[in-house]
Amino acid sequence: MANCYSQRDLVQLDSELARLEEINSYQILDSSPEQEYDDIALLSAQICNMPMSTVAFIDESRKWHKAKFGLDKDYVPRDFSICSHTICGSEMLIVEDTHQHDVFKHIGIVNNPPFVRFYAGVPLINSNGYALGTLCVVDTKPNSLNDEQVHALQALARQTIALLELRKSLLISQQLQQQVRLHNSKLESLSQTDELTKLYNRRVLDRELSRELKRSQRYGGEFSLLMIDIDNFKKLNDTYGHSVGDVALINIAQLLIRESRDTDFCIRFGGDEFIILMSNTSAQQAENIANRIRTSVDDCAEHLSFLTLSIGIAHVDNFNVTERLIIELADKGLYQAKREGRNKAVLKNSHSLVS
Ligand code: GH3
Ligand code: MG
Repeated sequence: MANCYSQRDLVQLDSELARLEEINSYQILDSSPEQEYDDIALLSAQICNMPMSTVAFIDESRKWHKAKFGLDKDYVPRDFSICSHTICGSEMLIVEDTHQHDVFKHIGIVNNPPFVRFYAGVPLINSNGYALGTLCVVDTKPNSLNDEQVHALQALARQTIALLELRKSLLISQQLQQQVRLHNSKLESLSQTDELTKLYNRRVLDRELSRELKRSQRYGGEFSLLMIDIDNFKKLNDTYGHSVGDVALINIAQLLIRESRDTDFCIRFGGDEFIILMSNTSAQQAENIANRIRTSVDDCAEHLSFLTLSIGIAHVDNFNVTERLIIELADKGLYQAKREGRNKAVLKNSHSLVS
């Protein structure tokens, strides 16, 4: 039989904090009822021929009932319960008549409903050696258990622990799955992102341009693509250094995001070249957006105010084209803009590709 401890001794036990941490690791406290635990409470009462039983966990202040048979309380105060003594030992505690026991005759659960006279409880000790709670049966009159009943109650306590360990394994595997999902989505986002500007990279352009073309071919409609190149960017790098050049690239990337729509894809195409892919966008709308981008580049940063942009616009409403031809079309517009003095947007229509 287990030793008895006063409530103060219990709190003072060095391992109490560690024990509470162990209980929390199962996330069992205040969880919903579960059939498996209810079955254990039912079998315990029936095998021992007792009117009441509980599967309980003991936290700082409560004996909380995961499953109960023959009583309706979800918990009782910790210092009301005999179970809070049972968890101080490693063996089953049996009290055949509480009124004859020096300590327990004064305890709350004996002198208040359900007026416990007989008590038998097995500590639920986990694989790390911590007693988390109890499996107990009680009676309102003095009583006893035979050997078979004692062994059966101990076996049911082992089953309760097995259920608990299974619960923990499931929790750990769910946490691992969540971590893997997070890791994968980070990897996916990294594989689609340009490191410096955080815009999409060319991989996304290839994917989205091909999707856009298929969509347009199937449902009709039009779309546009802007190819944007910074004018005389080498000069900026040479004058102010590469890191100032980097800041300019980042600022321009942010400008492109500000000036485009949520449904557009902003891509860093290469060194100082960007692409915006715009669904359902007419030539006129594309020109307006291109010129808005061009004229607002001044706001990027004080000492970058001399920066200008040249833009080639490919407008697609003829679908006998390929992804490569669309890029070439935008590139032609861009080349023309550069040739005609830079700081300019030049529109090219997919009709011009049809001979
Ligand atoms: P143009 O007006 O004809 O476009 O002339 P440009 O000086 O802008 O020359 P070009 O577009 O051919 O060259 C782009 C330059 O961008 C070349 C390279 O040094 C610079 N560059 C490319 N990637 C980066 C980068 O990540 N950071 C910085 N700071 N510079 C870059
Ligand atoms: Mg350039």
